[in-house]
Amino acid sequence: MIKQTYQQPDSKGKFGRFGGMFVPETLITPLKHLEEAYLKLKDDSSFITELDKLNREYTGRPTPLTFAERLTEYFGKAKIYLKREDLCHTGAHKINNVLGQILLAKYLGKKRIIAETGAGQHGVATATACAKFGLQCVVYMGETDIERQKPNVFRMKLMGAEVIPVKSGSRTLKDATNEAIRDWVTNAEDTHYIIGSVVGPHPYPMIVRDFQAIIGKETLEQIMKKENRLPDYLLACVGGGSNAIGLFFPFINSNVKKIGIEAAGKGLDTDEHCATLTKGRDGIFQGMKTYLLQDYYGQVREVYSISAGLDYPGVGPEHSFLKEENLVEYYSVTDNEAIEAVKLLSKTEGIIPALETAHAIAYLKYLMPKTSSEQILVINISGRGDKDLNTVMEYL
Ligand SMILES: *Cc1c(COP(=O)(O)O)cnc(C)c1O
Repeated sequence: MIKQTYQQPDSKGKFGRFGGMFVPETLITPLKHLEEAYLKLKDDSSFITELDKLNREYTGRPTPLTFAERLTEYFGKAKIYLKREDLCHTGAHKINNVLGQILLAKYLGKKRIIAETGAGQHGVATATACAKFGLQCVVYMGETDIERQKPNVFRMKLMGAEVIPVKSGSRTLKDATNEAIRDWVTNAEDTHYIIGSVVGPHPYPMIVRDFQAIIGKETLEQIMKKENRLPDYLLACVGGGSNAIGLFFPFINSNVKKIGIEAAGKGLDTDEHCATLTKGRDGIFQGMKTYLLQDYYGQVREVYSISAGLDYPGVGPEHSFLKEENLVEYYSVTDNEAIEAVKLLSKTEGIIPALETAHAIAYLKYLMPKTSSEQILVINISGRGDKDLNTVMEYL
């Protein structure tokens, strides 16, 4: 139904002029091994069957596509459907990627898993999967984030993970990522590094995208069943970009309009935002060439969003490519607008979204007036809001 002519990354792992493998010499071999193993396993029937079983029986897939009746009435325009990744085990889409990569690690014979985490969501998903498979789990986390995200630190420890505090730089996500890369350089022999979004050196952006593309594949099947046609719009929030590309990818060659929403924090006219695709310029960071928020000297900037999962100065290289090719549109909304959107979805649908997700919902007020009642829109509800209740309460 949709012609699949979309280009995979080239032999150097590039999406157009973005992506690539900008890593120390010692990581080239493990990255090549990972790529080879992945390209073989992704078509291996026992790998596919095992991952499919995990998705169904552990994560709870397929997640529903829920018609948002009262939200649709509220705007009085296009029909709004919600893709319910908030109903995944651990409360967000991140588990889709982690389970795929844990299976990869198992097939590669790796006994030790490392990960970086900011807010702790990716760390929790990784600790969860490691517990399920009995693998050693080490999570790098900035000291500032450890202080801010105590419940998630406790969750990881409860599931047997070791959480290593990172004391360098701003002591947040990008510093934790640097430490994880350092660990991998030393221990690549027995260790698999699970990156949490469609970022980092090739082949990670491709692997993570493929594992998250289950979101879009299910959406395609579900919308065909319910409406017998493609939607007109797809809407998702963009931090690193994994839930967005997961929804968009199976539709990439269709003329369904795809829209990604970044965090404008306290406003694009301040320095306190993380609207990378809107305000960034290209550079090299954490193994990839992509849009980055940089200062005058080209140093990666401190960034900000009320939502910890969007608080990242880079973005997946494929998104940089999709933006430049005009295949996806990117906009941003502020903290304030996201908080209003949390209230809106909670009151109209009885679904409390994560603050990250709320950024996509907030954009509806700009988009809906341009739609008509014959049209259909799907929003990716990337996660549930329980983790953010304290932040929302303080803000209000
Ligand atoms: C981590 C997270 C995000 C942002 O990450 P992407 O890779 O951009 O998807 C969005 N929503 C939720 C609920 C998250 O936990």
